[in-house]
Amino acid sequence: MGSLHDGHSQLIKEAKISQASESSSVLVTIFINPLQFGPSEDFEKYPRDLDRDCEIAFQSGADAIWAPSFEEVFPGGINSHFQLKVPANLTKHLCGANRPNHFDGVATVIVRLLSLIKPQVLVLGEKDWQQLVILRHLINELNLPIIIRGVKTIREKDGLACSSRNQYLNTSEREAARELPNLLRKTSEEVQNGKQLNIEELKLALNQKGLKIDYVEEVDPVLLSPIKHRGSITLLAASVHCGNTRLIDHVFIKMRKPIIAIDGPGGAGKSTVTQAFAKKLGLIYLDTGAMYRAVTWLIQEKNININNESEINRVLENIKIDFRTSQSGDQRVFVNKIDVTKLIRSPEVTKFVSSVSALKAVRENLTAQQKYMGIDGGIVAEGRDIGTAVFPQAELKIFLTASPKERATRRARDLKIKGFQVPELLDLEQQIKDRDYADSTREISPLTKAKDAIEIITDGMSIEEVIESLIKLFRMKVAEEVWPSLQK
Ligand code: C5P
Repeated sequence: MGSLHDGHSQLIKEAKISQASESSSVLVTIFINPLQFGPSEDFEKYPRDLDRDCEIAFQSGADAIWAPSFEEVFPGGINSHFQLKVPANLTKHLCGANRPNHFDGVATVIVRLLSLIKPQVLVLGEKDWQQLVILRHLINELNLPIIIRGVKTIREKDGLACSSRNQYLNTSEREAARELPNLLRKTSEEVQNGKQLNIEELKLALNQKGLKIDYVEEVDPVLLSPIKHRGSITLLAASVHCGNTRLIDHVFIKMRKPIIAIDGPGGAGKSTVTQAFAKKLGLIYLDTGAMYRAVTWLIQEKNININNESEINRVLENIKIDFRTSQSGDQRVFVNKIDVTKLIRSPEVTKFVSSVSALKAVRENLTAQQKYMGIDGGIVAEGRDIGTAVFPQAELKIFLTASPKERATRRARDLKIKGFQVPELLDLEQQIKDRDYADSTREISPLTKAKDAIEIITDGMSIEEVIESLIKLFRMKVAEEVWPSLQK
């Protein structure tokens, strides 16, 4: 909406970094959208200075600026055009509650601008978190081929989030305004340290600093609805009036780092994409299948009958499974200090692993170990029951699958590379179907898609395409502010 500040500059710089290709350009659109202002809001007096905006935009790396008139965006007036209605569940809380039709106006204009510009990447600030979430949902639902890149909130030296409206504040208001980020941050730190969140207390403290409360709410950062349990990552957001100026801000209350669960049948390409995804985001990678394989290998190595409960328990008591990263960056698996990375992928282990992993004692032992490994989060785990049994509170749950035929072809390629004998494709397909059946019909923690998991069918998709879609889904759920992308 113009009146550019450091927050906008950062968006432009990020756009430059995430340029889709060498030949793509960074376009800054400046449009003060009347549709998103309520009748008593500041549309008329909203700060406008196009010359200064151009200067800042070009200095920050913009290749072009488009500042259209209303008539250019909506020829013939707004009533000659389709207008959007944002679903009530996304507008019931936070800013939407007291600003009826605000987000409808935002969505209507943004979709119109996107259809005119057809960008590959849309860069938006996380400061207007509700707007960002609504636009992500919208672009996803309309299936627009646009990547949304969120940029973490940029703040002024005193902590106040950059906003064009900050210039309305006089000196004493400015002093009061900085209490908004201060008190939000202090509250989130206290809650992270174990104190119960008391919204009324926070409202009172804001009030005492001379800020008039519009709302203070804690919500799920993606669903934008009140939270059901603490234990993961929530959004504490507030809007206040400081004099006549409306300010918004938020913090994330992080009880741990994010967790991503990737489940699905064997041969769907889980390991390859999960490893690459973990590396791209700087998350710990946990291959739980390798743990079941490791136990199976040791049972076979010791010639133990899988019905011999006491022997199996002894194996579980004494097994130590370690993951280490080799110098070349590959993950290696050790069982009691023996490198079993290759051995656990043998056809003999593959044949028995489903029976071993169906044993109650094995499941209980490995599930407990996996939960412990993920206690602080910052992890992406792949397996069969991660989203349902190991990390049911994961921020993102994916069910990655592919047709048995596609998986057999991939498995054959894999076996060949690893130097094992390659069975006939039809036999491989049958083995895959048998293992799927065993994994999905076992009594404890069978392979099933969690209710809230997103299914990706990878037939015909390249590895890069799958990784890209995982990153896109991760970003729909986890803010840059919570888990920043690694710099390119
Ligand atoms: O993923 P991978 O093919 O290496 O997994 C080997 C086997 O380990 C699976 O077929 C399944 O029987 C078992 N497994 C499991 N639960 C997990 C991961 C793997 O039961 N979370």
